[in-house]
Amino acid sequence: MGTEGRKPTTTDAGIPVSSDEFSLTVGPDGPILLQDHYLMEQMANFNREMIPDRQPHAKGSGAFGHFEVTQDASAYTKAAVFQPGTKTDMLARFSTVAGESGSPDTWRDVRGFALKFYTTEGNYDMVGNNTPVFFVRDPMKFQDFIHSQKRRADSGLRDHDMQWDFWTLSPESAHQVTILMSDRGVPKSYRNMNGYTSHTYMWVNAEGERFWVKYHFKTDQGIENLTQEEADQIAGADADYHRRDLFDAIERGDYPSWTFKVQIMPFEEAESYRFNPFDLTKVWPHGDYPLQEVGRFTLNRNSSDFHTEIEQAAFEPSNLVPGIGPSPDKMLLARLISYGDAHRARLGVNYKQIPVNRPKAGVHNYSKGGKMRIDNVSDPVYTPNSKGGPTPDPERYPEAAVWSTNGEFVRAAYTPHSDDGDFVQPGTLVREVMDDRQRDLLVSNVAGHLANGVSEPVLQRAFEYWRNIDPEVGERIERGVRGG
Ligand code: NDP
Repeated sequence: MGTEGRKPTTTDAGIPVSSDEFSLTVGPDGPILLQDHYLMEQMANFNREMIPDRQPHAKGSGAFGHFEVTQDASAYTKAAVFQPGTKTDMLARFSTVAGESGSPDTWRDVRGFALKFYTTEGNYDMVGNNTPVFFVRDPMKFQDFIHSQKRRADSGLRDHDMQWDFWTLSPESAHQVTILMSDRGVPKSYRNMNGYTSHTYMWVNAEGERFWVKYHFKTDQGIENLTQEEADQIAGADADYHRRDLFDAIERGDYPSWTFKVQIMPFEEAESYRFNPFDLTKVWPHGDYPLQEVGRFTLNRNSSDFHTEIEQAAFEPSNLVPGIGPSPDKMLLARLISYGDAHRARLGVNYKQIPVNRPKAGVHNYSKGGKMRIDNVSDPVYTPNSKGGPTPDPERYPEAAVWSTNGEFVRAAYTPHSDDGDFVQPGTLVREVMDDRQRDLLVSNVAGHLANGVSEPVLQRAFEYWRNIDPEVGERIERGVRGG
């Protein structure tokens, strides 16, 4: 192929090179010269191409699109992104949790559901899952939970015994484990699953009134799932099945969308509500707090460089804009810190200057220096100053998402509410929401999982765990594993 019309290859400094085929040698058969700095640059770059995997949520996929407000939620939040008529550019990333970056998309797992909205008031991130609850409710247990789902120290293998050991000793996991083992434990595609904040957040309106809120993103493609057999087959045939599906759908113009709905709880009702509304292992039943539509997001653009735009994307629940704040959910409060810390470890301190993470709203503060800084800093580099540097505007942007509390310093479980109980809501799901087919799938999924490497006494505890969720389902699971 000729060189006409093509750009000359260059080094990273933009200097044209004479060959990308041959290294510089002493004669055609002689040794390679150290002065072949282009070869050195190629080898050095290659050795540094990989950045650390996310821990967890390493395997994922993403796409760009926009969010549009369709209903008026201004009575509940003043956030610009949720005001009537607003349209906001956004990025979504979906992922599995426990597998490494090359692991099969169709392994049974919870799916991450992370959204970044490039709003006029700075970046707003919603970092949720395809399930409305989680396995643990105190961040002290999170690290151990993830260890139990990943790989053993000795063999480097994943291990169902380890998973069930942790789950059965942590009864608060029952709700999430029920959903994980249900038909929804392996979605057909990222397009065919819902997303949830799982956490409760606070919304604040223009008058300063506060509300508690949970988000639901309902797939407009409809919920569709894979059976265990289908998932196992696809895992062998195409490990990137979900990544391919999302990319191909957008390439052919079949843009997936999700309808954004919220549950709103008046601020004062939290204390006396029958379930602890901040407990991440619980939902708010729809009968108590019905879903209200707010908007819709549509994904219509693939990345052109997966590494730059998706692997380097950094979502963090602490990116909360005016009108949206945290709640007393202990898991959320810990995540506000741990995500930024993870990004600093993985991408470096200036990760928010990477284009995909850069707010369109502009940044004005006194941070300076650090590895890979791209934005120039200008004087003054300190505050307070009398040189016209940026300064807070508490009249316009008050610290509004706050609540009051007092008490002794303790290490303790949440104070229980009247209907709290680890097996109450999973029991409702199994008995009142699932139909016979879904219950059959649940029983066979759990029995198949338990029969694959779970030993005594963990096995016995697992049967009790399921009998606590539902006596009949528990019996059927035990029969499925032990036979008879
Ligand atoms: P509803 O009958 O109003 O809602 C039941 C919900 O269950 C629906 O949102 C449905 O989602 C979802 N669902 C159906 N099958 C499954 C499954 N295999 N795994 C997870 N979710 C499923 O009941 P309530 O609101 O009174 O809640 C009853 C139980 O439903 C809860 O204990 C909880 O386990 C589960 N649930 C509740 C949610 C909530 O926010 N209230 C959210 C999700 C689950 P869809 O509409 O998409 O079909």
